[in-house]
Amino acid sequence: MSEMTQREKYDLKRKLEELKACKGRHTELISLYVPPSKQIFDVTAYLKNEYSQSQNIKSKTTMKNVLSAIESITSRLKNFKKPPENGVVFFVGHKSVGADKTEMVAYIIEPPMPITTFLYRCDSLFYTEPLEAMMVEKEIYGLFLIDRRECTIGILRGNRVEMLKYMTSQVPGKHGRGGQSQRRFERLTEIAAHEWFVKCGEIASEIFQQEENLKGILVGGPGPTKHYFVDENYLHYEIQDKIIDTFDTGYTDEFGLREIFSSASETMTNLKVSSEKKLMKRFLKEVTKTDNSLAVYGELQVRKALDMGVIDTLLLSESLRRFRVKLVCSTCNYSQMRTLNEDDLEEFTPPKCSKCMNPTEMEIKEKLDLIDELSDLAEKTSANVEIISAGSEEGDSLYSAFDGIAGILRYPVDLQ
Ligand SMILES: [Zn+2]
Repeated sequence: MSEMTQREKYDLKRKLEELKACKGRHTELISLYVPPSKQIFDVTAYLKNEYSQSQNIKSKTTMKNVLSAIESITSRLKNFKKPPENGVVFFVGHKSVGADKTEMVAYIIEPPMPITTFLYRCDSLFYTEPLEAMMVEKEIYGLFLIDRRECTIGILRGNRVEMLKYMTSQVPGKHGRGGQSQRRFERLTEIAAHEWFVKCGEIASEIFQQEENLKGILVGGPGPTKHYFVDENYLHYEIQDKIIDTFDTGYTDEFGLREIFSSASETMTNLKVSSEKKLMKRFLKEVTKTDNSLAVYGELQVRKALDMGVIDTLLLSESLRRFRVKLVCSTCNYSQMRTLNEDDLEEFTPPKCSKCMNPTEMEIKEKLDLIDELSDLAEKTSANVEIISAGSEEGDSLYSAFDGIAGILRYPVDLQ
């Protein structure tokens, strides 16, 4: 399963916001999830059956709306010979637009990860949960617990903990029983402990090396043994390098894996936040420079810098709710671009054409999410694009102080 890019995540998040805002006046919004393995003619047959069932709906308007939604999906299905790689989702129906009016909407989404179950649902809301589940981080971490008695190896996938191996040692306790000299006993104990650590290190390294997308390793256990184990490099060096942090746990068995997971959740959220923090700090440091600053901000400046291909990293606030629209004059075809806030879009009156002075207004012909539009520009010049989350101090300052749009330049440039 491939990981979603920031951009894909953002796009899906925005789609989900739109879908969740749709409300049907009755149960007349259809959600249809088609997994990649499903035959299209099976889906068509299923819809045919739903169509005839829906003719029994008591309310005339609801029946009409449901039937037209099913017809719409059926005709769209004809464009598919087979489902796309990850399957396809249809959200079709009449959403309420106030004052007793409805408007037909149709969304066709090819999800970034495979759909696993075929699902048809007719409700007053669209059913978006399976898509939302795809947004949850599916990162993989190795979990390793050790003391002198036990060792447990596990994997954390998203938020699912799996135990892969549990071992117990033959290392005797710290204190000898009578008969042997204390020194000899201690020496034997240390040899046994060393062998135990070597064995655990080898097995853990082997298991973790098989996990291709391992983000990091979290080590736990009670007392100082885990630190000793880490400091003495008992793990393969490539695996050793992936250790993120150590945690105190009360147990070294399956319970310990749960303990480590709950203490680590915070660390992992912090990891994401801290990489955004780092970027914003770099930007803020550049902003304060009076000479040779590498910072640009505001839509106008950033757009200029993108056109010149001098942006190294583009920073976009996740909270931007803006669109880039293309206005076209229907008489002379003159066009111009404008950026509009989502909230102003409905009230927006396009200006009159400035080229032919035709008294008719220009029309909005294209509309693109500003984040998508700027990301496309950035990708053309191979700039990195970072979408900075809202909610952190740095994220909020990007939005409020820098118009939500900023960049770090490859080299200083005069943009005036
Ligand atoms: Zn014109």
